[in-house]
Amino acid sequence: MLSEFSLIDKFFKKSAPQNSETRLGIGDDCALLSIPNGYELAITTDTMVENVHFFANANPAQLGHKLLAVNLSDLAAMGAKPLAVTLALTLPNVNEAWLSEFSKGFLNLAQRYGVDLIGGDTTKGALTLTVQAMGLVPCGQALKRSTARVGDLIYMTGLLGEAGLGLKIEQGYDCKAENAEAHFHTPLPRIETGLALRGIANACIDISDGLVSDLGHILKQSNVGACLEWEKLPLSDEVKTYLEKTGDTFMPLIAGDDYELCFTVPAQHAHRVPENCTAIGIIEAQSGLRLKKFGYIETFTAKGYEHFS
Ligand code: ADP
Ligand code: MG
Repeated sequence: MLSEFSLIDKFFKKSAPQNSETRLGIGDDCALLSIPNGYELAITTDTMVENVHFFANANPAQLGHKLLAVNLSDLAAMGAKPLAVTLALTLPNVNEAWLSEFSKGFLNLAQRYGVDLIGGDTTKGALTLTVQAMGLVPCGQALKRSTARVGDLIYMTGLLGEAGLGLKIEQGYDCKAENAEAHFHTPLPRIETGLALRGIANACIDISDGLVSDLGHILKQSNVGACLEWEKLPLSDEVKTYLEKTGDTFMPLIAGDDYELCFTVPAQHAHRVPENCTAIGIIEAQSGLRLKKFGYIETFTAKGYEHFS
């Protein structure tokens, strides 16, 4: 059986650092990063636990990809450029075939976004995967949750409810929707859009727990409310068909795992919003979240939704 050190050498210590800020990578007691003048280090961490965040039989390459993607998505939501990550692995046993696939999924995505794997920890126990991701953002330019303003337009990247549909398919809903399945298993973090939104968006968050829940964080922390327009939500034909067939009307609004960005923009910057984004609503002074659907307005509460008028 491989020792901890040969496991790291064999599967994770693959390439030289891609960034000049990475002064020292895997192998010492700590890694060393230098932060360029005028930049702040954005730091985030996310854990995935077997049977909580993924199924026990999950494809290891997709798992490696998704673990890194969900962490990079938090950097994207902050407008930070990914720099480096650490990886803490708790494994029930050393399964080389599993580790080989997992590390490929992880390191391919790291390569794609120019991220250095600079260290981590390896322990024995129930399968638990943790990443800490670090990125750079010019001082004062990070896209926070607490800075939405009344009158801002609310936008989101991509499509809503794709990962939600992917999960339904995983659970037995019968339809062919390659994009939804890809979104669920191998989401791509919206790094480029996050960087493009510096100086344009007032507030930003990534949709990991569902639009209602995540937009709710912006509203609460910014002390504002909002109204979303159902007819403007970017839904794929497959999601629309799912809604018609099942009557599960609010799936796109409450399903998690999309990893799209939701952000608010003052009207004077609307023309600078990137093309892959859709305006879906507006920030209002009245607290709470409302949904305008076929001319009616419904109010969402923590428990679900209730009719308003
Ligand atoms: P320490 O005893 O100081 O905690 P370790 O023996 O845990 O160090 O790790 C040795 C080196 O390998 C360190 O540089 C550590 O960051 C790195 N490392 C350990 N596990 C991983 C992993 N899963 N992925 C990447 N690097 C790792
Ligand atoms: Mg250690």
